[in-house]
Amino acid sequence: MNTLVMKFGGSSIGTTDALTQVLSIVLHEREQWDCLVLVASALEGVTDGLIEAAHLAQMGQQRGYRRIVANLRTRHLALIDELPLGTTERAALHADIDRLLFDMLDLYQGMAQTTGKVTPESVDATIGVGEKLAARIIAALLRQNNLRSVALDTTSLIVTDDVPGNATPNIALTRTQIAQNLLPLLERSIVPVVTGFIGATPNGKPTTLGRGGSDYTASVLGVCINATEIWIWTDVDGMMTADPRDIADARVIPSLSYEEAAEMAYFGARVLHTRMIGPLRDDKIPLRVKNVYKPQQIGTLISDGGSARSHTLKAITYIPGLAVEAKRTSEYSPIPVVYDKVVVAVPNGQIDIIISAQSATHSLACFLIPTTAGSDAIHTIRLALEENLQANPLTQGWTVKNITFVTAISANIDNWATITATVLQRLKNIRILALSQGPSNSSLTLVVENKDSEETLSLMHDLVINSG
Ligand code: ADP
Ligand code: ASP
Ligand code: MG
Repeated sequence: MNTLVMKFGGSSIGTTDALTQVLSIVLHEREQWDCLVLVASALEGVTDGLIEAAHLAQMGQQRGYRRIVANLRTRHLALIDELPLGTTERAALHADIDRLLFDMLDLYQGMAQTTGKVTPESVDATIGVGEKLAARIIAALLRQNNLRSVALDTTSLIVTDDVPGNATPNIALTRTQIAQNLLPLLERSIVPVVTGFIGATPNGKPTTLGRGGSDYTASVLGVCINATEIWIWTDVDGMMTADPRDIADARVIPSLSYEEAAEMAYFGARVLHTRMIGPLRDDKIPLRVKNVYKPQQIGTLISDGGSARSHTLKAITYIPGLAVEAKRTSEYSPIPVVYDKVVVAVPNGQIDIIISAQSATHSLACFLIPTTAGSDAIHTIRLALEENLQANPLTQGWTVKNITFVTAISANIDNWATITATVLQRLKNIRILALSQGPSNSSLTLVVENKDSEETLSLMHDLVINSG
């Protein structure tokens, strides 16, 4: 049985035009595949709004969270009013939206009554509603167009551990849930529209898979139902040689190996969730990234073959990070002490150590904060690091600074002897703080000062364009 899982990103479902595109894509693919499963993200900006509302509720600011919920209601109702829906579908959808948002107000009110510090668990319990709203809208649109479709909440499908804000699905438990709750729908030729991003622990506590987590949902579902392919529909033409928002002449990359795609995501290409590739690579399920507005274009194919043999530079990514540094004086504490006492103590810290370097007189450790931690994370983690360094008498000499990781991606980078030399030659006027060749054999990462990041990115991207 040929099964396609298609995930639609928040950037490509928020307007009538975008949803019309989604509908035409689904109607077309319905003819090509035995089964379709759709994964919906929240409309763009909705999850940010919900996080803000949770914080306001926790601070007891009733007017603030009520305003956000009212805006969400207006936005979703305006969208369905513009969609070509019959009276019954529209009325049912209207009622669903009101019920879901009414429940949110209840939850926020409960949070407001127990004011205190916002906990990641309480954020997790409230931010999945954006996906629930979007899944219901898409399913209604499909039904209106004579497809049998239902919206399904992944709290009853994706079983995860209980790491708040960054949970990992348990594939075996998820398979069992899917066999009970999803496969019967596919057998009846129904097109399920499932919520991305959210799951629940075995005890039913709501969790989320990290920012951008709907990609991960698609990958986990794909593995659990043994899908033929997974397609990620987004607002760019595929995986590109750099983020097209930063580099005007970025180009689409027609094919990538799993390793290359995983490295791109890990080192900042937020078009894919950082942990979604692993499950697909293990099962060799091909992944495509396509532009929802240009469905006829092939986009990028990520697969086992990929381009593992090619010796060209594929892409340049960048991601902001943090470095802690110190002069080695008599009161100096070594990096492992800083790591043990300070970094692991950062609350809910999603921090990876990428490079550490010591010399006779200086020490430096550079940390990457994955895109899944969200764009505010760098700021909150910096504050927490500074507080922890100050609080510990052993680490007073250490300071924190913002840095940027710029990474060159290419399969077999270690075997291509000239690549490091070429990159360093190109960057001869940039101060490189540290450098590492990734253990995956697919990446070369440089740490630069923030002020040099744009120039570094642009110089390195020229190498991609010229490397054929
Ligand atoms: P969605 O809402 O569809 O999940 P995201 O905003 O999460 O969309 O991801 C798409 C965005 O990823 C693009 O708009 C683009 O700016 C960004 N991006 C960053 N790096 C890359 C890259 N190398 N190739 C393609 N897109 C990239
Ligand atoms: N809506 C969630 C987010 O904004 C998940 C996703 O977009 O994939 O992070
Ligand atoms: Mg995304």
